[in-house]
Amino acid sequence: MLNEQYNFFESVEQSFDKAAKFTKWDKGLLEQIKACNSIYSMKFPVKMDDGRIEVIEAYRVQHSQHKTPCKGGIRFSNAVNQDEVMALASLMTYKCAIVNVPFGGGKGGIKIDPRQHSAYELEKITRRYTAELVKKNFIGPGIDVPAPDYGTGEREMSWIVDTYTSLKPGEIDAAGCVTGKPISQGGVHGRKEATGLGVFFGIREVCNMPEIMQKLGMPIGIVDKKVVIQGLGNVGYHSAKFFREGGAIVVAIAEYEGAIYKTDGLNEEEVFQHRKKTGSILNFPGATNLAKSSDALEMDCDILIPAALENVIHADNAPNVKARIIGEAANGPLSPEADEIFIKRGILVVPDMYLNAGGVTVSYFEWLKNLSHVRYGRMEKRFQENMNKHILGQMENLAGKQVSKKEKDYILHGADEIDLVHSGLEETMIGATREIMDIWHANPSIPDMRTAAYVCAINKVAISYVELGIFP
Ligand code: NAD
Repeated sequence: MLNEQYNFFESVEQSFDKAAKFTKWDKGLLEQIKACNSIYSMKFPVKMDDGRIEVIEAYRVQHSQHKTPCKGGIRFSNAVNQDEVMALASLMTYKCAIVNVPFGGGKGGIKIDPRQHSAYELEKITRRYTAELVKKNFIGPGIDVPAPDYGTGEREMSWIVDTYTSLKPGEIDAAGCVTGKPISQGGVHGRKEATGLGVFFGIREVCNMPEIMQKLGMPIGIVDKKVVIQGLGNVGYHSAKFFREGGAIVVAIAEYEGAIYKTDGLNEEEVFQHRKKTGSILNFPGATNLAKSSDALEMDCDILIPAALENVIHADNAPNVKARIIGEAANGPLSPEADEIFIKRGILVVPDMYLNAGGVTVSYFEWLKNLSHVRYGRMEKRFQENMNKHILGQMENLAGKQVSKKEKDYILHGADEIDLVHSGLEETMIGATREIMDIWHANPSIPDMRTAAYVCAINKVAISYVELGIFP
C-alpha cells in the first residue's frame, strides 16, 4: 500500500545522484538534466451527471525539452499529485534516452478515481483537460504528446485527439498530438500490447545471458520459469500473455481485491473473463485464493512482475520476496530501501525506466506514422511478396523440389504493420538490455542494473545538451 511519507520524485533524484557519480559530467549540467523544466498545475470545474459541480485537480509536467516533443502518459488516479507526476515525467526523459526515442520526458495526471465516474463524466473531464492543455500550449505533435497510463486507454486518447483537432482545424499533423489511439483514429497496430511485450523481450534477453543466469543460480532461458504478476491491467495482462506464450508458467496474479495461485499456471484471458463476470479475481476455478493481495509478492517464484503502481515493494516486504529476478513493469514499484535490500540479497532488479519502455517505443512508431500519413508496410508489402515468390520459384526450379505449403506461406509473407512494429520493439528492447549490461560490466563498482541504466540515460541526455552548445 502507498506510504504517505513516500516522496517519489525524491527517490528518482536519489537514484540519479547515485548514478551521476559514475559519469564525468559537470555539476551544473547534471542539475539541469535532473530538474523539471515546466510544471502546469490546473483546476477546472466539471458538471457531474447529478448536476453537482466538481473542481478537478490535474497536472502536466514537461521534465525536459532537450528533445521535442515531450512524451508521456496521462494517469487517472485518486493518488495523483504534483510530486508523482514530476517523478513520472523525469523517468520518461531517461526512458526515452535509453531506448533512443528522440523525445523529452513528460507526464500528465488527473486526480480522480475513474471507477467512480460515468463514461459521460470521464469524457467531459478528458475533453476539458485537453482544452486546458491547448490553451497553455502544453500539447501538440511538436510540443508534447500524451499517451495512456494507469486508468486510461484508447477511449480517452480518442477524446483527446478529437478535442485537439476541433480546436486546431486544418493542422495537418494533428493526429500526432497523442498516441495510444484506436486504429481508426490514427493508432498503430501493436500499441495496446507494446509495454507488456517489451517487458517480456527485456526479461527474456536477461534470461538468455549466461553470466547473469549463472550468478543468479538459474538455468538459461524463459521456458518453465515461474512468474508472479501484480496488476491485471494493460501492462500486467499483456506481460502475463507473452510470458505464458513464451513457455513460462504464470503461477500467481494479484489484483487490488485479492490474489490467486495455481502451480500449473494461469491463463490471463480466462482470469480476465472470470473477473469481468464475477467482479473479482478471487474464486477462479482450480486456483487457490491468497489471504491478502500483497501476499502474491512474497510467493515462491523465479520472476516477479509488479505491474500496478509505485512503492508496492518496500523495506517491510522486500526481505520476504522469493523471486530471483524482479521486472519493474510498473513505474517505481520499488522504494530505494527495497533496492538496497535486493542488492545485498543478490536479487536482480530489471529497472522500470527501460523495461517498460515498450509503450513509448511503439508510441514513437505511431507518431511517425501520423507524421508520414501512411500505414507501415503499405509501400513495400506487395513488392516484398512478389520478390519472395520469384526467388522461391527460381530455387524450386533449380532444386527440382517444392517446399511445403506451410513453409511457402511463411517465406512469401511480406511484412504487415504489426510485424514491423513487433520487430522494431524487439530490436529496441534487446539493444537497450545489452547496452545497459555493457555499461554495468565495464564498471564493476556500479552496484546494480538500475544505476547502470541511469548512467546510460544521463550520458545520452548530457551529450545532447553538449551538442546544443549550452554546456562545455
Ligand atoms: P491499468 O490501469 O491498465 O492497470 C493497472 C491494474 O493494477 C488495474 O487493473 C488495477 O486494478 C491494478 N491494481 C491497482 N492497485 C493494485 C494493487 N495494490 N495490487 C494489485 N493490483 C492493483 O494501468 P497500466 O497502463 O497497466 O499501468 C500499470 C503500471 O505500468 C503503471 O505504473 C504505469 O505507469 C506503468 N506503465 C504503463 C504503460 C502503458 O503503456 N500503459 C507504459 C509504461 C509504464
